[in-house]
Amino acid sequence: MKIHLYNSLNRKKEEFVPIKTGKVGLYSCGPTVYDHPHIGNLGAYIVWDVLKRFLISQGYRVKHVMNITDVGHLTSDADEGEDKLELASRRSGRSAWQIAEYFLKVFRNNINNLNIVEPDRFIRATETIKEQVHFIKILSDKGFLYKINDGLYFDTSKLPSYGRLANLQAVDLQAGARVEENKEKKNPSDFAVWKFSPEDKKRDMEWDSPWGVGFPGWHLECSVMSRMELGDTFDIHTGGEDHLSLHHPNEMAQSEAATGQLQANYWLHNAFIKYQGGKMSKSAGSFFTLENIKEKSYAPMAYRFLVLQNHYRSPLNFTWESLSAAQAGLKNIVREIAFYDKPKKASKDVLSEFYQAMADDLATPRALSFLQEVINSNLKSGDKLATIFKMDKVLGLDLENLRDKSQELPSEAHTLLKDRELARKNKDWTESDRLREKLTALGIDIYDTPKGQKAIWVRL
Ligand SMILES: [Zn+2]
Repeated sequence: MKIHLYNSLNRKKEEFVPIKTGKVGLYSCGPTVYDHPHIGNLGAYIVWDVLKRFLISQGYRVKHVMNITDVGHLTSDADEGEDKLELASRRSGRSAWQIAEYFLKVFRNNINNLNIVEPDRFIRATETIKEQVHFIKILSDKGFLYKINDGLYFDTSKLPSYGRLANLQAVDLQAGARVEENKEKKNPSDFAVWKFSPEDKKRDMEWDSPWGVGFPGWHLECSVMSRMELGDTFDIHTGGEDHLSLHHPNEMAQSEAATGQLQANYWLHNAFIKYQGGKMSKSAGSFFTLENIKEKSYAPMAYRFLVLQNHYRSPLNFTWESLSAAQAGLKNIVREIAFYDKPKKASKDVLSEFYQAMADDLATPRALSFLQEVINSNLKSGDKLATIFKMDKVLGLDLENLRDKSQELPSEAHTLLKDRELARKNKDWTESDRLREKLTALGIDIYDTPKGQKAIWVRL
């Protein structure tokens, strides 16, 4: 099946052709581990998880690499401000190392809750300092760097292709300059590959280098890790649309300057998840974490379902009502499949339509409509289940597990069910209804079938 993906590099949907037949090198820019990720950030990882699962469903062997930024990401995103980890450390009284350790654990927990498959390689920036220093030497030898007071900078005017991803012309680069720009830089778009530690303050995280004690620039780790794990050029690079204007152009420039090759062939970007019309963001205080969702009795899987109801390139406006509707919708699916026979034969026709939708730049809303279509169809229930489970290999809604779980009842339900069975035998309908109400209050659904009563307990 031909797969088309929207490539930000060329601003159009393109047929996906991997470098090596049957294999895909996939790189996703990972989180900066200084705080709880918000659900907007996590939404992106759901999307890339579905991309990976889809490629695997089509027979590709995918190697997925993700960086963990635990040093060098400054509060401004550019090269000004304080290191986010050092700032969190100062505020909490814990070391930057402890902060990184703790929030990496939180992140792994969160993605696990969302049924996101962990990348094959998860690499912390601080684990590759030697390689990053080596990479800087290559850039330096090729004449792309210059040194100023606070660090070693990449001269973007030396790389004619700079800014192509963001569609920035040299003139835009000047106009886009930040007011608080470092005046020593040769061009406003130049960025740090190595920052020096401040003289008056000892950082938790700093290293020796041929240029002085300091730490790597934020963009460097991605160029270095992707090359280490996936080679000079790999297939797909993913990230949030906020990376289009700064992080990705800079990453791409470093890689291209060092190797003379395009870093990745396909650049995929997800749109933001919004709240009350604005970007969900930490700085604006308008964000929720997965813990917030759980506190309000919503399941992480309901959030995953909500994200997939939206196409990844259009902004999703998050509301509690939409999450509530997604939760009810997912429960309905589980309730439906709880009664199906064991999985038998998947329907090739419906699956093919489902895959077609996914192959069209990951049209998950359309793909999901086929799931409902299977439920409504005349297929035998075992065939329905087999088809739905195949789809779920891509969607990752964990339906097999949720279905199994729905069959396990709480202990107090067993006596109530027995009593109700007896009441029905005695045609004591008032008692039977009273017991049903009690069971419903426990969250249990009862169905009276020709084979007797059947009870399920749907939990996400
Ligand atoms: Zn990156």
